[in-house]
Amino acid sequence: MKQRLLTPGPSPVPEETLLELAKPVFYHRSAQFRQILGEVLEDLKYVYCTRNTIAPLTASGTGGMEAAVANCLAPGSKAIVAVAGKFGERWRSIAKTFGVEVVSVTVPYGQAVQPEQIEQALRQHPDAAAVCATLSETSTGIRHDIRAFGDIVSRTNALYMVDGISGLGVAECRVDDWHIDICVTGSQKALMLPPGLAFVSISDKAWQRIDQNAPTRVFYFDLRKYRDNLKNNDTPFTPAHTLVKALRVSLKMLRAEGIENVWARHARMAAACRAGVQALGLELFAAQPIDGLTVVNTPEGVDGVALVSKLEKQYGIRIAGGQDPLKGKIFRIAHMGYIDQFDVLAALSALEMVLMEMGYSLEPGTSVAAAQKVLAEQVRKG
Ligand SMILES: *Cc1c(COP(=O)(O)O)cnc(C)c1O
Repeated sequence: MKQRLLTPGPSPVPEETLLELAKPVFYHRSAQFRQILGEVLEDLKYVYCTRNTIAPLTASGTGGMEAAVANCLAPGSKAIVAVAGKFGERWRSIAKTFGVEVVSVTVPYGQAVQPEQIEQALRQHPDAAAVCATLSETSTGIRHDIRAFGDIVSRTNALYMVDGISGLGVAECRVDDWHIDICVTGSQKALMLPPGLAFVSISDKAWQRIDQNAPTRVFYFDLRKYRDNLKNNDTPFTPAHTLVKALRVSLKMLRAEGIENVWARHARMAAACRAGVQALGLELFAAQPIDGLTVVNTPEGVDGVALVSKLEKQYGIRIAGGQDPLKGKIFRIAHMGYIDQFDVLAALSALEMVLMEMGYSLEPGTSVAAAQKVLAEQVRKG
């Protein structure tokens, strides 16, 4: 059966990038690799909309988050963390692990933290060393107003640290214009690569803090080592360099398309997917949705875990269920990275067939037709 991967990480990898991954392994301390890494970091700066240093780490996205905390936040310092789901909770857990006092700004799952809440927390905690937020809260499908948060944080001494792991390359995120000091991403979401690489952008304000902290409890993730090596487009330790080489291919595609067009494409997929599920009478879980995935409430009387499993077993459509307290209650259809309109239409079509089988009343084709209308309308508008 043909498999279609619509999970919010990992996401599908384009054929050209896969072919690059099939090539022989080469030596990483070489002019060849320095040239490739230099190009990849330049293209990443384009995707990040930044001139800041970007440190390439061989780790999953969480490694990038840990590097950010371990370098930027001294033990005993205070961080304000926007918590709207599992990934906000992850910032909080990492900070606590490194002895940072956490002030959580928490909203119920499905909601987004509002800029006023960040403003208020900063007023109450003027000594906060950082504000940590999540661009795309992948566990609930919400989008935070990263730009508005940035305007607020930039007026203070706090560093602004953003988990952009499933959001960068999906939705507008301008690291420099939006005053983001640290922005983390991972390779397996919108960058169209398998898992294994994390990237951290570091502003001058963040470097000053890191130098001031002179962190001692880091070794592999010591960002100062990366800064030194990057002067020669090198890395302190053996990088996952075959992934870096393949990333060059995926990034060239994003560059050729143009980052604004990449954001617009994700917005189109999201609009079509949302229209499709809503036409079936299903409800969106996220109050303020991000364009990389559509999160849907499992309807009354339907077993959400079985639904996800049937989609895969019967139709080869792999979507994600809810995690922890949301298990069975929601399902998540990702449309980030190398996913096109026909993947979305296929997912909706299969969803209808599974829902019918599970006794949910619907007219076949309803969601597909609604999504097609959105897609055709957008083509017409150009
Ligand atoms: C996927 C994801 C992560 C975690 O990344 P890993 O690569 O699994 O370590 C962190 N934050 C967000 C928002 C994510 O979507």
